[in-house]
Amino acid sequence: MERKDKVRGIILTHGHEDHIGGLPYMLERIRAPIYGAKLTLALAKEKLREFNITGYQLNEVRPGEGISLGRFKVEFIRVYHSIPDTLALAIHTPAGKIVHSGDFKLDQTPVNGDVTDLHRFAELGERGVLLLLSDSTNSERPGYSPPERSIFPVLDAIFQSARGRIFASTFASSIYRIRQFIELAVKHGRYIAIAGRSMSQNIRIAGDLGYLWLPENLLIDLKGVKNLPPEEVMVMTTGSQGEPLSALSLMAMDNHRIHIEEGDTVIISARIIPGHEKAVGRVINHLYRRGADVYYERIADIHVSGHACQEELKLMLNLVRPQYFLPIHGEYRQLIHHAKLAESVGMPRSN
Ligand SMILES: [Zn+2]
Repeated sequence: MERKDKVRGIILTHGHEDHIGGLPYMLERIRAPIYGAKLTLALAKEKLREFNITGYQLNEVRPGEGISLGRFKVEFIRVYHSIPDTLALAIHTPAGKIVHSGDFKLDQTPVNGDVTDLHRFAELGERGVLLLLSDSTNSERPGYSPPERSIFPVLDAIFQSARGRIFASTFASSIYRIRQFIELAVKHGRYIAIAGRSMSQNIRIAGDLGYLWLPENLLIDLKGVKNLPPEEVMVMTTGSQGEPLSALSLMAMDNHRIHIEEGDTVIISARIIPGHEKAVGRVINHLYRRGADVYYERIADIHVSGHACQEELKLMLNLVRPQYFLPIHGEYRQLIHHAKLAESVGMPRSN
C-alpha cells in the first residue's frame, strides 16, 4: 500500500465475481484507470454502482491490443473461459516478457467461437518468455476439461423427458451455460422466466451487449408462470450454491412466490464450491420433499469446468516455454500439483 501512487492501472481479465468482486474495496484505496474487455467492464460498472462508487475511469480493450502502463506494455490475448471476453496478458517489461494466463481452458468448439489464441502463446514462447503465471484450479485433474457443448445433449434429454416446469440453476455469471439453457427452452417450446436479482441483471447486461440472444416472445415475468401450462415453462434461477436467500433456496423452503410442485424438474448446473456442500445438499433434500426431480453434478453430466486440466496446462507450459514458472489461482495443494506438472514437462525445479 505504501507504493499505491505507483499503480498505473488495474487490469480485469474477466467478469467473474472472484476477479471483480474486490474492485470497490480496491478503488477506495487506489485510484487508477481500469482496463478490461466489454462484458467485464459492464459487470464491473454494475458492481461499482451498487457500492455508489463514482469518478472512476473504465477503458475498454480487445484481444490483440496493447496498452502502455509506465515502462510496461501490456498485451491482451483471447482465452476461453466460462464467461465471454476473458483475456490473458503478456506484460512486456524491460526485464523480459511475463505471461499471465488469467482463468482459461482450451475448449476447441466453444459456444460462441472464443477459442484460446494458442498461436499467440506459441509466438511469445518462440521469442522467449521470462515468467509464466498460470491458472492452477484444475491442476489435480488429469486429461482435458470437456467442452462446454458436451453437456448440451445431456440437458436436452432432461428437457425431453421433463413433464412439468423446469428450473435451471447456475451461476449468474455463467453466460455460456445460460445461453445453452435459453437455446433448450426455445427448442422445447418453453417460456423463459428469470428468478434472482443477479441472474436478471447479468442476463440483461449480456443481452444488451449481444452475448446472449433473448427471444422476446418467449420471455415472461415470474408472475406469469402460474398462468401457463407447466410443460411450457423454464425458470432460470440463482441459488446453485444453496445460498439461503437465493431464489432456488427460497423456493425449496416454500418461501417464494413460486412453489415447487410434484412433477417439476430442477437442474443444478454448476460445481458445488467446496464449503457449500451442506447448503446445496439441504436445498436438494427440500426439493425432493416437494416432489421435484433433481439433477445435479454428482448424478448427471450437466456441468463442465471452465478451467484447464492437466494436459491443457502442460500444453500451455510447452507453448510458452518460460524460463520461470509461477503457479497461481488455486489452493496450496493445487499450486504444488501445477508445479509438479511443470517439472514433468522438463522445467527445472529451481525455476
Ligand atoms: Zn473465472
